[in-house]
This record gives sequence, structure tokens and C-alpha cells, in this order.
Amino acid sequence: MSRVIYVNGRYQPYAKAAVHAEDRGFQFADAVYEVIEVSGGKLVDARRHLERLARSLGEISMPMPMSEGALRQIMSETLRRNRVRDGLIYIQVTRGAAPRDFALPGPDVPQSVIVLARRQVRAASDALAEEGIAIMTMRDPRWARSDIKTVMLLPAVLAKAEAKRQGAREVWFTDENGAVTEGGSSNAWIVTPSGKIVTRALDNRILPGITRASAMDTARHLQLQLEERAFTLKEAYEAAEAFITSATNTVMPVVRIDDRLIGSGRPGPVARQLRHAFHHIAEISAL
Ligand code: PMP
Repeated sequence: MSRVIYVNGRYQPYAKAAVHAEDRGFQFADAVYEVIEVSGGKLVDARRHLERLARSLGEISMPMPMSEGALRQIMSETLRRNRVRDGLIYIQVTRGAAPRDFALPGPDVPQSVIVLARRQVRAASDALAEEGIAIMTMRDPRWARSDIKTVMLLPAVLAKAEAKRQGAREVWFTDENGAVTEGGSSNAWIVTPSGKIVTRALDNRILPGITRASAMDTARHLQLQLEERAFTLKEAYEAAEAFITSATNTVMPVVRIDDRLIGSGRPGPVARQLRHAFHHIAEISAL
């Protein structure tokens, strides 16, 4: 539980932390965000996350609301005030509050900045990784710019709710060619029967996952074979292994996709190896 949340220059008690009713993040999802893993009080891959934040902002014609140094200082203070050692930092930047109008407000309207920290028990994720998770699949219902990390998450919210109803932890979306794009809130990976690790190459249909980038570094470090290309749902059904990556899951094995067991139906050795080595390779930075 967050005890205080940074909102527009102030550390506010959790129950009182609020943005304006006409905030454009609230009215138009005119906002972007980042989620950064916190491990042992340190940020995992902060540099890459802040670079992606700057990119997402640029793609929707918003400037960085403050210097990277100032943002890091706020993240550090938010972690300290919430006494988070293992968990996550969430940052949201919106185009600010202004009378509702599709037209973009002028530069005089200050952006909103929210930073919160939350504890997450690592043991829970490790226990889940021992069992592996199930995936449900569906046609990708999202817009054509899923490479921008906007808060416009309703399609993913509804898809993940449907997955949960069907006993799956995550959803994988497929494109018009029957290829997997990515997960509802994660990147999608398979290991082929010949042992190649495959994940879709970056395009505008997927988020350039930071954990994806560091998992690729990890695979290279372990001298595993890696291919960045689209894979079909059929290939996924017949894969030796599958897994997802995200900042809150790191590398999470997948043991079932729809009604097909993947491989032996147990987490596979490649996913286990990547999960185990991940934190040794990802950049872990003090703030
Ligand atoms: N794809 C989507 C759609 C996501 O929401 C996320 C997590 N925010 C990811 C991929 C994984 O990205 P990351 O590794 O940076 O957490």
C-alpha cells in the first residue's frame, strides 16, 4: 500500500492524493506512464525506462515535465517515504488540467506528474514462476500505436478480465496474419522445438518492453540463440517453451496457451535460466 503519493509538486497522503476533475489524463487518456521495478531499494533499468518515457512523451508532442535528475529525486523520495525496498515505481505524466476541449491546451497549462511506490512481495512472483501461468488469446483490439505507453488501457483491462474469467493470467493478442503481437501487459516469447528464443521485432503494434530489452541482453550473455521476428499462434501452440516479460514479472514461464499445454506443461529450462540470470544482467541503479 502506498502511504504517500507525489502529485504535482506535493507528497500527499494516500487518501487525499488527487488530480483535477478536468485533468486530460482522466478525460482523454491524454497521458503516458512508466512502471519501474524496485529491487533491494534500487531501480531496475531506470535509464531505459526514463528514455522510453521521453520517447512516449515525444510521440504525443509533450515535453518532459522536468529534468531527469529532478524526476529521479522524486522517485527516490517517494520510495523513501513509502519504505519500499521491493516493488515498483509508477510514474504518470498527463497534458494537465484544462476546460474539456479536444484541441491541445497552450504551453501555459502545466503538465500533471504523479509518482507512486508500491511494495510487491518477490516470493509471490517466484512461487508463480515455479508453476507457470496460462494464457488466453484473442485478436488485438487496440489502436495502431501500441508502441506508445499511454494510459489508454481499456482494451487491455477488458481483455485481461476475460482471460481471468477463463482461468488465464494473461492474454496474448494476435494480428491479422495470425501472428502474436504481445501480451495485455507484457511482451510475448516462445522457444522453438530447435531451441531458438523468438520474440516479435519492434514495430508499432507492440510496446518496446524494457524487460524485453534486458531479457535479450541476458539471452545473449548466456549465449542462447535469439531471433527477433513475428511468430504465429500455431507456432506458439507447438513451442517447446513460452514465457512473458514485464517489469513486474521479469521473466514468467507460460505453461498453457488456450487449451494447449506448452512443452511438458511445466516451466521450461530456458525461461528458468533467463529468470534466474535476469537481475545479474539488468542495470540496477541507485537513484
Ligand atoms: N507490453 C505491454 C502492452 C505492457 O503493458 C507492458 C508492461 N507495461 C509490457 C509490454 C512490458 O514492458 P516492460 O518490460 O517495460 O514492463
